[in-house]
Amino acid sequence: MAKLTFSTLSFNEREDCLQVTLLKLFVTKIPKKEVEAIASFKVINAHTINFDYSDEEKISTKFGFLLAKYFEYLTTKLTGNKATYIHRNSGIPLIGNVAFGIVHRGSSIIEIKPTTSCNLDCVYCSIAEGLSSKKNDFVVEEEYLIEEFQKVVDFLGEPVEAHIGVQGEPFLYGDIEKLIEDLQAMESVHTISIDSNGTLLSKDKIDRLVNNTKLQLNLSLDAIDEVAAKKIAGVKNYNVNYVKEMIAYASERLNVIVAPVFTNGYNNEEMEKIIIWIKTLKVQPKLGIQNFLRYKTGRNAAKEISWEEFYTMIKQLEDKHDIKLKLNKEDFNIKSLPGLPKPFYKGEKVNATIVCVDRFPNSVLAVSKGRTISVPNCVFKKDKKIVVEILRDKHNIFTGKVIK
Ligand code: SF4
Repeated sequence: MAKLTFSTLSFNEREDCLQVTLLKLFVTKIPKKEVEAIASFKVINAHTINFDYSDEEKISTKFGFLLAKYFEYLTTKLTGNKATYIHRNSGIPLIGNVAFGIVHRGSSIIEIKPTTSCNLDCVYCSIAEGLSSKKNDFVVEEEYLIEEFQKVVDFLGEPVEAHIGVQGEPFLYGDIEKLIEDLQAMESVHTISIDSNGTLLSKDKIDRLVNNTKLQLNLSLDAIDEVAAKKIAGVKNYNVNYVKEMIAYASERLNVIVAPVFTNGYNNEEMEKIIIWIKTLKVQPKLGIQNFLRYKTGRNAAKEISWEEFYTMIKQLEDKHDIKLKLNKEDFNIKSLPGLPKPFYKGEKVNATIVCVDRFPNSVLAVSKGRTISVPNCVFKKDKKIVVEILRDKHNIFTGKVIK
């Protein structure tokens, strides 16, 4: 009997298929007959399969091939959107794309992006992520992310903040606690900040996070009024009272910043209510009100107000409630650092290989010299060789157009 156990995968035997779930959120189905072609099998617990075969190594290799084949059909449970699993053997580098992997923008902050996708659908979402999104998703192997992150830290040679700033909700990532723990253990990381909508926190989860002394939770709270909060979150089951409970509980145990987005026409009356509520808490978290901005890729449900109007409003609220609302550079200990080397620049023509689909329909990711390049208006054909003209190289985030 060969017994295969996977910590990041779980299995469900269905009538005609084996359903495989990766990191709790991404799912694929393998036809039963293809699994049985290896050997007869039985799922003995969520993470373990027994095969009626004595050579465990051989079974492991064959089943690995089958998994790789059907991971090509991975989808996100929340939306049904196509998902790509990026791991050490995927041949996909973690630098080059704004949606996944590692982004360094020339400061002491390194952004880490283990996954995309979100359980809300906020009206102000700058990347139009959430339940109504039709974009492709990415999920990255935790060990791969940590290994590549370490290389960037070594290159910079300075203490850094690891910012888990996901295009979506980071607590949907099945290995999020492991990722935080591994970052906590890194000497050169002085802060681990994470932006979350707070809906997937629980008191147990917060209790498990308290050992991560470098952790700073940036939590969304856009309204106190339940109807306004649901409208802004874009989902009927959004429970602002639960999120408030988590903010109150977390603030007594961790560094917390509450970060409402002022969205004109949606929560004008709510900013004051949030301040009043925050001031009732046993331990008051920092409060940093943000101004809604329209983005090309955003959901853009509201009109922007000017920065002048915004700061006038903030100043009035600060004076009225004797509270600091405008967070600046000093609050975040940010330092300028040299950027990572670029293997190619805007205007260059680069030989690249298509590896997977990108976020948007009809766009692909190509790889060259250890970087990914987003290539819009290109039909996906795995391993196809193309020549790309680089159109954007800022911060090692690359976009290009196919010229051959
Ligand atoms: S703003 Fe954040 S929480 Fe809201 S839909 Fe976008 S990613 Fe999700």
